[in-house]
Amino acid sequence: MFKRILIANRGEIAVRVIRACLELGIETVAVYSQADAQALHVQLATQAVCIGPAPAGQSYLNQAAILTAAVESGCEAIHPGYGFLSENPDFADLCQKAGLKFIGPSGAVIRKMGNKAAARALMQQAGVPVVPGSDGPVPDGKAAARAADRIGYPVLIKASAGGGGRGMRRVYDPADLEASFAAAQAEAVACFGNGEMYLEKLVLNPRHIEFQIMADSQGNVVHLGERDCSIQRKNQKLMEESPSKALTPALRQVMGRAAVEAARACGYEGAGTVEFVLDPQGNYYFIEMNTRIQVEHPVTEMVTGLDLVREQLRVAAGLPLSFTQDQVRQEGHAIEVRINAEDPARNFQPCPGMTEFVHFPGGCGVRVDSALYNGAELSPFYDSMVAKIIVQAPTRLMAIRRMRRALEEFVLEGYSTGADFAHLILYHPDFLKGSYDTSFIEKNMSRLLEWTQTGVPGTREEEE
Ligand code: ADP
Ligand code: ADP
Ligand code: MG
Repeated sequence: MFKRILIANRGEIAVRVIRACLELGIETVAVYSQADAQALHVQLATQAVCIGPAPAGQSYLNQAAILTAAVESGCEAIHPGYGFLSENPDFADLCQKAGLKFIGPSGAVIRKMGNKAAARALMQQAGVPVVPGSDGPVPDGKAAARAADRIGYPVLIKASAGGGGRGMRRVYDPADLEASFAAAQAEAVACFGNGEMYLEKLVLNPRHIEFQIMADSQGNVVHLGERDCSIQRKNQKLMEESPSKALTPALRQVMGRAAVEAARACGYEGAGTVEFVLDPQGNYYFIEMNTRIQVEHPVTEMVTGLDLVREQLRVAAGLPLSFTQDQVRQEGHAIEVRINAEDPARNFQPCPGMTEFVHFPGGCGVRVDSALYNGAELSPFYDSMVAKIIVQAPTRLMAIRRMRRALEEFVLEGYSTGADFAHLILYHPDFLKGSYDTSFIEKNMSRLLEWTQTGVPGTREEEE
């Protein structure tokens, strides 16, 4: 096992990785920007190195500064977390050249799966169903219009380099196609510095179902079941649960196998997620693979009892996975709520500020992953997610009740968050029934906002 690694990230995921390292006896080197000098990950690490000013481009994305910090502090490996450099193949290659193990798949694999249009083609070859769409990228609005006519409306314009729900536009009317293409492409250029676009058929009323996979360097590839991430706003996840109410054991097995196939087809190593959309008829389609640990990984940890970051570290050190496919169990039910500093009533606009007071929930079956503390100043330079609350319970209804209780215990003063909004979702009859899709928030927005004023009307819980 490694003696010392560098964590090229900040916030809750940096803290999460440090915790796994502490349990394995691995020393940690944190990196931080000038805005993060007091941050929790800096305080918890064995050693910390300042890598530049607040803007991520000059600090957390500064590859040379991070590599120098790793070499000079005597690290053997770099854990990239999620976001930032985690899916940057050039950075993975540079780590290797510098004699540092990148904790994740090789640069070549990230490159293959990171271009979403190319990943689609690869999955098609491997026999994994993909959403009907353009054959590869479309160069301009005219070509996009031709592809859309062939695919049939409605369509979804997507960025090959996309992530975080950005660079995406739904188009229902052919008259809007070219303008939407231009808008999506401009956003893709601004966010990713890459304007390559492709088209997919817009699957109507889909659920977002993803499978966690783990692969080691000895050729073992396993899946750890699914997460249902259909509670989204702006194509970004807000709440995740496992198992999904939408899967039968048979469908779970088929989709799990497809996810393992997908990982094998690209020569995967480490933790990864294969994302699908599932239509109301039970057809599933690959949409993308995330070649890193994901925000919502604790949901899987809570139902399987496995520590995914520990497994990532083992695999990166050349050790086999500590479990086999047969040993993976989904026990009970887990739910995660992402707490973002944002205002749901104002289109979820981020609203950073000073953490005047924070009190986290605790008790049976509750886990909190966060880097917040009293007095923590949120920087507008970084992502607005400040905490994740995760619960596990024997049944879905018990997990829902546990999450309500946990959110009621949670106190945060200084800025607004989506915690109360999430709490209301847990009372919605469709959520209780488990019959919801990715349009749930959009469809129910006015009702949920009304509930923030009036309180929740009488609840119905006859589902279980
Ligand atoms: P996940 O399924 O893990 O939530 P996301 O695509 O939502 O995957 O991204 C996870 C996190 O990574 C986000 O919360 C954000 O911090 C960061 N991230 C991902 N893509 C981007 C992006 N394009 N721009 C900025 N941050 C991003
Ligand atoms: P990102 O890289 O930004 O995470 P994804 O391709 O994973 O982009 O898509 C983000 C979300 O957009 C999905 O979770 C799903 O809700 C929606 N989505 C993506 N592709 C489709 C599609 N073809 N039809 C319907 N919804 C889709
Ligand atoms: Mg995605």
